[in-house]
Amino acid sequence: YTKKYGKNNYTVYSRELDTNTAYKLSIERDLKTAIHQEQFTLHYQPIKSIKTGELSAMEALIRWNHPVHGLIPPDHFIPVSEESGQIVSIGKWVLRESCKQNKLWQDLGHRPFKIAVNISTIQLKHQNFVFIVKEILNETGLDPKWLELEVTESILMEDNEILKGVLIELKDIGVSISIDDFGTGYTSLSYLRQFSFDRVKIDRSFIKDISHDLNGKAITSTIISLAHKLKMGVIAEGIEDEIQLAFLKEEDCDEGQGYYFSRPLPAEMHKIP
Ligand code: C2E
Ligand code: MG
Ligand code: MG
Ligand code: MG
Repeated sequence: YTKKYGKNNYTVYSRELDTNTAYKLSIERDLKTAIHQEQFTLHYQPIKSIKTGELSAMEALIRWNHPVHGLIPPDHFIPVSEESGQIVSIGKWVLRESCKQNKLWQDLGHRPFKIAVNISTIQLKHQNFVFIVKEILNETGLDPKWLELEVTESILMEDNEILKGVLIELKDIGVSISIDDFGTGYTSLSYLRQFSFDRVKIDRSFIKDISHDLNGKAITSTIISLAHKLKMGVIAEGIEDEIQLAFLKEEDCDEGQGYYFSRPLPAEMHKIP
């Protein structure tokens, strides 16, 4: 493979390889042993209250420490694992590790905060998903109120009663649900009425636009007021500078996440107050 080294020591493959079947097959093959050989690792990124600056959650983000290719970002293997179905076991590992880590932080005496875990629609559709969540909460001893599942906007487009039922069952357990990357999909706003999500995460492309473009501001403040009217909290993703933060504060955005606060880091590298 030809490869370039990007920021964060990631191995960045060229676009052509990304869509290349041989590449996908090799990823799929290597993924088979990745869990057993403990090649996955989680980095955690803080989500903070914009008003108080207090830590409200940590988002768990998976990385793959590939024996040959080095650290591979999720965008390079999560889609492949979704196609192959491997996301089900990878996702279960992520959920268990994240809950375990959050319980550990609590046991170390930190003021409790949520752990936010990305969940693929494939996982939600898997018949045992709710059972798996309950089992992991039991096993790790984490109180469900400290777990938030991030689902993608695409879930709203699926007119799927079963999926809606799963979300309701999850809320009944006491787990909270947020919509990730909000604004990037083809969702009609009316879909938001179908289910009461706890939080909306504004996609970082809009936050990026705040600094140099008026439309970013307009879209961001519209999403914030819509979410608030629907009684949902709002998290801004990808905050990188003070200008963006000041605007979000002005617009009453509840929480924020981004390099301005911290990059995603291994658990032990976080200095938690
Ligand atoms: P996401 O859930 O929207 O996660 C946020 C992404 O934005 C992360 O990329 C994070 O590193 C990046 N980010 C955070 N702050 C900033 C910032 O200020 N500037 C910029 N430029 N980027 C920022 P990452 O870790 O590469 O993850 C990419 C995506 O992969 C995630 O997007 C999520 O959709 C998916 N993913 C990650 N871990 C998992 C997982 O365990 N399961 C599933 N199903 N998907 C995952
Ligand atoms: Mg996310
Ligand atoms: Mg996101
Ligand atoms: Mg995103």
